[in-house]
Amino acid sequence: MASKALSTKTPIERARAAARALAWEFGSQWYVMAARVAYREDPSVESAAVDQHGLIYLNPKFAIEIPYPELQGTIAHEMLHVILRHFERAVTLGLITPDGKPVPGREADLPIWNVACDWTINPALRNAKIPLPSWVIYPDPRYTGVLQAEPVFHWLKSQQKKGGGSGGGSKGQGEPKPGAGCGVRAGDPEHKPGQPGQAGQGDKPYGLKPGESWIQVAADMRAAAQAIGQGSSPLAHLLQPYRATIDWARVIRRGFNLAQVRPGREFPTYSRISRRAGSADTLIRPGWFAGAPSVAFVVDISGSMAREWISQIVSEILSGCATFGTRAFLVTHTDQVEWAGWVTQADKSKIVEACGHSGGTAITPAYARVAEEKTRFQALVHFTDCEVESPWPDVPAKKLIVGAYGRAADGSPYSEPPYGAEVIPCHVPVE
Ligand SMILES: [Zn+2]
Repeated sequence: MASKALSTKTPIERARAAARALAWEFGSQWYVMAARVAYREDPSVESAAVDQHGLIYLNPKFAIEIPYPELQGTIAHEMLHVILRHFERAVTLGLITPDGKPVPGREADLPIWNVACDWTINPALRNAKIPLPSWVIYPDPRYTGVLQAEPVFHWLKSQQKKGGGSGGGSKGQGEPKPGAGCGVRAGDPEHKPGQPGQAGQGDKPYGLKPGESWIQVAADMRAAAQAIGQGSSPLAHLLQPYRATIDWARVIRRGFNLAQVRPGREFPTYSRISRRAGSADTLIRPGWFAGAPSVAFVVDISGSMAREWISQIVSEILSGCATFGTRAFLVTHTDQVEWAGWVTQADKSKIVEACGHSGGTAITPAYARVAEEKTRFQALVHFTDCEVESPWPDVPAKKLIVGAYGRAADGSPYSEPPYGAEVIPCHVPVE
């Protein structure tokens, strides 16, 4: 009976009905998104796709032929890409530009990001018992970290470096299917909250309403899930904001604290450890303790370092300088030095601007730049994913603190920092 009625529907009518039924069958939280998406037939799409504003593109044949429950799952999947801001987060990671173009040098990372996003969506839908097509992908059981796209992405990249073919990122020709690494395509850059689609397409207004943000919409959806007793479901967890993922402040404070430590007391110095280890005397530098305490910060901005993180790091450094009465020298690097200088309030925007680079990673030029200052740095704080040259170069400071993120925060670093370094994992999953 139902199937006969459905067969008379157009693809878009069928999709709308599926979206409404999500809310009846799986909980009222789905209303939040069903009210913010629109549909467009697009035969050039293999099955379904979505843009960052909430316009869902459907291959008409696919949308008519797919079993109805799986159409519900497909639409729920696409909705989650939007509400979880997978497009915007890829911009933040430096994978795409705000208008959706791949960032040069990061083209190969984009399919990995799309797989990472699908790894987080599909288990949440499966847990909610929302049917999905059989070909969707689920996380590799070897991945034991938090199911958020950024840490999954770092893990997939580390697996790729090791040569492990994990994740099923390559799907042959054409666009990957939804749920199998489909990602989010760039929508109309002119689309404004509350606007309908392009004239002649018959779209209702879609996307954010005026004054809304997706973070807030996700919070509304989470609250709706909570109201029906699904507040601790994987879906509700997934909807929590994943923003302050790295505890920069803790590591930066540690650097400033170490710079205040008087000689030879609380800590064995870097040079002493190297003597004990029997290495050459190259690390013993006379006259360490004269002058004002200074801290060097070295930030690896290759690949996965986001610009908003640089901004947070610089803010924390500035506040540390004020609190501790200390000077701080900052070097940002890829495989070369991208920015270097003593940090003052006036530099902040210049530094962030200079940090849009991506590319290889090498520590040696960055440490050489610190050494050029001929300053007795009490501590050097190095933020890196540790995927760097081996062995680690000589450290131009008394003490090395490694703020390790990415894979290094989840397991053993890719390259082992030198003996005596303090490694602080600073990738903090949001519970
Ligand atoms: Zn997807």
